Amino acid sequence: MPVENIVVGSHVWVGDPELVWVDGQVVHINGEDAEILTTNKKMVVVKVSKIYPKDVEALADGVDDMTKLSYLHEPGVLHNLANRFASNEIYTYTGNILIAINPFQSLSNLYDAFTMELYKGIPFGRLSPHVFAVADAAYRDMINDGKSNSILVSGESGAGKTETAKMLMRYLVFLGGHTAPAGRTVEQQVLESNPVLEAFGNAKTSRNNNSSRFGKFVEIQFDKLGRISGAAVRTYLLERSRVCQISDPERNYHCFYLLCAAPPQERERYKLGNPRSFHYLNQSNCYELEGVSDAHDYLTTRRAMDIVGISEKEQDAIFRVVAAILHLGNIDFSNGGDNDSSAVEDEQSLFHLEMTAELLMCEPHALKNALCKRAMVTPEEIIERSLDSHGAAVSRDGLAKTIYCRLFDWLVDRINVSIGQDPSSNCLIGVLDIYGFESFKNNSFEQFCINLTNEKLQQHFNQHVFKLEQEEYTREEIDWSYIGFVDNQDVLDLIEKKPGGIISLLDEACMFPKSTHETFSQKLYQTFKDHKRFIKPKLARSDFTISHYAGEVQYKSDLFLDKNKDYVVPEHQDLLSSSKCSFVAGLFPPLSEEAAKNSKFSSIGSRFKLQLQQLMEILNSTEPHYIRCVKPNNLSSPSIFDNTSVLQQLRSGGVLEAIRIKCSGYPTYRGFFEFLTRFGILAPEASKGNYDEKVACEKILAKMGLTGYQIGKTKVFLRAGQMAELDARRTEI
Ligand code: ATP
Ligand code: MG
Repeated sequence: MPVENIVVGSHVWVGDPELVWVDGQVVHINGEDAEILTTNKKMVVVKVSKIYPKDVEALADGVDDMTKLSYLHEPGVLHNLANRFASNEIYTYTGNILIAINPFQSLSNLYDAFTMELYKGIPFGRLSPHVFAVADAAYRDMINDGKSNSILVSGESGAGKTETAKMLMRYLVFLGGHTAPAGRTVEQQVLESNPVLEAFGNAKTSRNNNSSRFGKFVEIQFDKLGRISGAAVRTYLLERSRVCQISDPERNYHCFYLLCAAPPQERERYKLGNPRSFHYLNQSNCYELEGVSDAHDYLTTRRAMDIVGISEKEQDAIFRVVAAILHLGNIDFSNGGDNDSSAVEDEQSLFHLEMTAELLMCEPHALKNALCKRAMVTPEEIIERSLDSHGAAVSRDGLAKTIYCRLFDWLVDRINVSIGQDPSSNCLIGVLDIYGFESFKNNSFEQFCINLTNEKLQQHFNQHVFKLEQEEYTREEIDWSYIGFVDNQDVLDLIEKKPGGIISLLDEACMFPKSTHETFSQKLYQTFKDHKRFIKPKLARSDFTISHYAGEVQYKSDLFLDKNKDYVVPEHQDLLSSSKCSFVAGLFPPLSEEAAKNSKFSSIGSRFKLQLQQLMEILNSTEPHYIRCVKPNNLSSPSIFDNTSVLQQLRSGGVLEAIRIKCSGYPTYRGFFEFLTRFGILAPEASKGNYDEKVACEKILAKMGLTGYQIGKTKVFLRAGQMAELDARRTEI
């Protein structure tokens, strides 16, 4: 960015290795170079083209909308957010995007009944930025235009998506709730579905003590009077591996610990005790969460299940299955007498085998066979083969994961049936709480799917913010130098094009019995040799890198084939579909003959892609609102603002791009009539003179001495800040 107005004495921002940006004052200029004394007492010499002017007149606690900044650049944006965060102003708009910084402390009154009342029906932007203002805008848009709306909440793990989504839902319930007497109202059920899903789908991870391990889209339906009349919950891709594999300092899903902390008679019924005695829990040393009582949460979850409409009997069956999974995990195997067969190892394992069978209501020896034996079908006969101890342990873990995922899906279905859909509703507000972009040291199939989701959402965001903006300018035939943005259609094609994209090639590999992750990777290297977004890392034999919109991510392909196969071992299916417990049998409905014969595998990747497509179709039919959650630091501290990490998040969320495009164009535009209604008072002679609307608008703008605005075919386009200026003049009259 060219900087003409930097002179000795100027207050400026310069790059800093630690703080990313630091402010300072120019003490000397020598040609291209400026010497600067920074506020952290360093003397640095920097190219003039690399420094940015600092707005010394900026309000100490910042502006509530980035588009009001007088100097709009990266350090300005960052400084504004940091200042506001320091005075507990966690919300800031960027046009109609809400940036929400996780305060990591409860801020008094921020979400109370009084605040809800305050935001009700107030035009967007009039009060300080808030999640309630976004929910209110979505609700008003829906009522006024009869159109569905959606609120897309995104951000990295621990940034506050789930808390924000819950706040949105509470506010929508406040607006659209019936004043019906207490009881199981739809809106109560909507709110209480949260603790139920969190108990079974959230876990402590190294980044968030209550991390959602699934994506969620809640659709709240409204009737003609704007009252909530139904709701539907859709979930995406629950993390399967966590059920049997965790590492320090993480935990398994909350429900396991809740059940171990249940009242004594219930623990006795399920033969549960200390969580430390269960293999699926004791792989990590973390059992308790600070400030959380599992015993208390157990009761809360039970109560929420009551409200959501899950019967006592069903609840008993649900927790019986949870307990069964813990016992199942404690069954160990040893290699039996002949070389490749396994046996249940010892007394302890036998006890757990019997307990598992009892809880799942199946025969212990049938369970043992399903864990340790496989039938091989040859044209002549069916041969029974024993698994070795390792194979049996893999079989056991597979069974645990399958049961758990089916249980989770059952809960979601049950919640939907119980809340009920309103077939006559034609308007809805959708709230999306879905995992943000992930890039770790080790990235596998899960990150691949998560990042695909983010690519799709980024495209949606691009289209909304950028394309719609450009289209508007083009339609109005105003002169506008187009700002390019990086379109990510090419990454989407790389991943999901059919045929030929990575998911298609993965499916092919999964169907071909001789494939390995290495042959799969070779195929990728060959196919995408010249693809701009695909990189074969040097030295890698099977890893591959995708250049995502938010940066490069290197994926390890070794578990891609396994993780893509959605396959239930027939022995497991037979065992559970014949359980004497109708709940357990119901989780494993017998396969139709066709499905059983057609044993072609079903692909998790392809199914996920389809789910995403459906989600995008819904989102595309709604008016979107965006909330970008930002984590101020990785220590969950309320007082640290880590510049590097915040900037990366703003970049991943497209916020920096959106700011750039908005402000380099015309952030506010108004139809002639609307403009005249609002500002006609500034030049009464123009409105009285019986001029054409367009001419009248021109007269007002000229009289006010504004420059840089443009007049299109039907609208006035104002530069950043001009609307506020006109408003100010209007109030002076
Ligand atoms: P994940 O992707 O792991 O599910 P997330 O973005 O959903 O993460 P949350 O679970 O919503 O993150 O937030 C993490 C924690 O941050 C919360 O448990 C809470 O302690 C704190 N937090 C988030 N938002 C707020 C808020 N508005 N006020 C106070 N604390 C908050
Ligand atoms: Mg979450």
